[in-house]
Amino acid sequence: MKLTKKIAAAAASAVMAVNSIPMASFNAAAADHNYMEALAMSLYFFDSNACGKGITDGPLTWRGDCHTYDGEASVGSLDGSAKSIVDPDGDGKVDVSGGWHDAGDHIKFNLTIGFALSSLGISDYLNPGIYEKANCRDHFEYEMRWGADYLMKTTFLDDSGKVAAVAHTIADGGTDHSFWTAPEVQTYDRPIFWLTASDNNSSVSCEMAAGLGAAAYVFKDSDPEYSAKCAKYAKALLEFGTKHVGNNTGGIGGFYSTDAQYQDEEAIAQAWLWIVGEGDKPTRVPKNKDYGGSQYDGWVYS
Ligand SMILES: [Zn+2]
Repeated sequence: MKLTKKIAAAAASAVMAVNSIPMASFNAAAADHNYMEALAMSLYFFDSNACGKGITDGPLTWRGDCHTYDGEASVGSLDGSAKSIVDPDGDGKVDVSGGWHDAGDHIKFNLTIGFALSSLGISDYLNPGIYEKANCRDHFEYEMRWGADYLMKTTFLDDSGKVAAVAHTIADGGTDHSFWTAPEVQTYDRPIFWLTASDNNSSVSCEMAAGLGAAAYVFKDSDPEYSAKCAKYAKALLEFGTKHVGNNTGGIGGFYSTDAQYQDEEAIAQAWLWIVGEGDKPTRVPKNKDYGGSQYDGWVYS
């Protein structure tokens, strides 16, 4: 994943300060510490970017359901055995509603959704009890589930549990950017961009695996069944990304280049699965400096 995009996402998060957001209730201890308030408020960034149904009447008064027609998106160019798994009734439509918009526009990228989920999970893992202390554990788990639900919904497994196809991007970047309007009023055509074994993107697949591995960690105690489901998808996506190595985009072109190496995403995914007892000790993590001075060696999560 490109560092520039990660910085852009962080910057977008930093400017998300809107006075009309209803204040969460803070306990007395949290009220004494601005970092606790900042942590609790930061979760509303995810509500502001939510897509699909179940948004109207939520905590953000200016947001509502949007792009609900993603629930009947065209299967498009997908064919062969993958199409029969994605579209078993053959009506040419598939439900890819939900998830989060990309920062600042209304495309949905599983690369950034996976990164967001993994980052949220890391904040919980490195700071045990912090969301309880900030009195927002429920909100935190709500966002983790919202993201994980979408990553699993857009991952299509065959009967043996292997990934057959991933709807990794929804909406064309150029088209989306021509409509600078609220998502709730948009009706433009939103195509699906697919990943398959023969046309894969290992950065995207492994980042999705990392995000779902993080969700498996977060829900390990509070919802073991859901945690196990997340781990199952994470393992399938990690295998998919590392067995069918590619840097393709399923037709979206260079709009969202992932020309950095995928091994950083692979390493984080391995680490999460190891943490939740669903994988071997990571083989990539100890090999720092193996990646040609790339961001994995010295930047972001190293
Ligand atoms: Zn939307």
